[in-house]
Amino acid sequence: MLSSLSAVYFAELSSPQVKAVRDGTRSPVLLLPVGAVEPHGSHSPVCTDRLIATGMCERAAARLAGDEHVRALVLPALSYGVARPGPVPSGAVPISPETLQGLVVDVCTALAGQGLPRIVVVNSHHEQAHLAALDRAADVVQRRCGQRLVRVDLDRPEGDARRYETSLLLAERPELVDTERIEASGTEGAALFEELTTMLVDVIRKLTCAEEDPA
Ligand SMILES: [Zn+2]
Repeated sequence: MLSSLSAVYFAELSSPQVKAVRDGTRSPVLLLPVGAVEPHGSHSPVCTDRLIATGMCERAAARLAGDEHVRALVLPALSYGVARPGPVPSGAVPISPETLQGLVVDVCTALAGQGLPRIVVVNSHHEQAHLAALDRAADVVQRRCGQRLVRVDLDRPEGDARRYETSLLLAERPELVDTERIEASGTEGAALFEELTTMLVDVIRKLTCAEEDPA
C-alpha cells in the first residue's frame, strides 16, 4: 500500500491524500521545478535545466520527509521555458513569456484556491525574458491570492556554468552525458546538489516559520 506520509510527488497522491496533507499538522510546501528545452552544448540533453531543478526539489522533499513541521511535495515540473530572442537553435522548444506566466499563475491559483498557498518556484533556466515572466507571474499571484510566491533561481558560478550544470547532471542522469566532450564530475555534482538542497530546505523552513511567527 502506498504511504502518503513518505511520498514526495504531489501528483502521485490521491485526492483524499492531498486533502490530508492540507489539513495535517505539518505545513505543506509545494515545490514547482521550472526548466527549459534548449541546447546545453553537444554533451548534454536539451532537458538539462528541468532535470537539475527537479533533482533539487526531490532532494529537498526527501530531506524533509521525516520533518515534524514541514511537508514538502514536488509538483509536476514546468519543462518549457522562454528563450532569448532570435533564431531557434536545433533542439530548442521555447514558449512565449505570456504562456509561461499563464502556466505559473494558473498552477499557483488552483493550489491556493484549495488551501495550498505555499509554493516555491525552483527555476534553473537563466534567460532575462524567462526570469521577467516569472517575476510578473509572482506579481499576479500576489494580487490574486494575497500570497507571496517564493522563487529560487539556481545560481551558477560566473564563467564555468557549463561545467557546473554538467556536474549536476552527471550526479543525476550520467547516462545522458557525453563525458568525452566535457570535463565534469558526478562526485562534484553530488556535492553541489547537497549545497543546493541545503539552500532550498532553508528557504522552505523560512517560508513556514514566517507564518508561525507573524512578528
Ligand atoms: Zn541550463
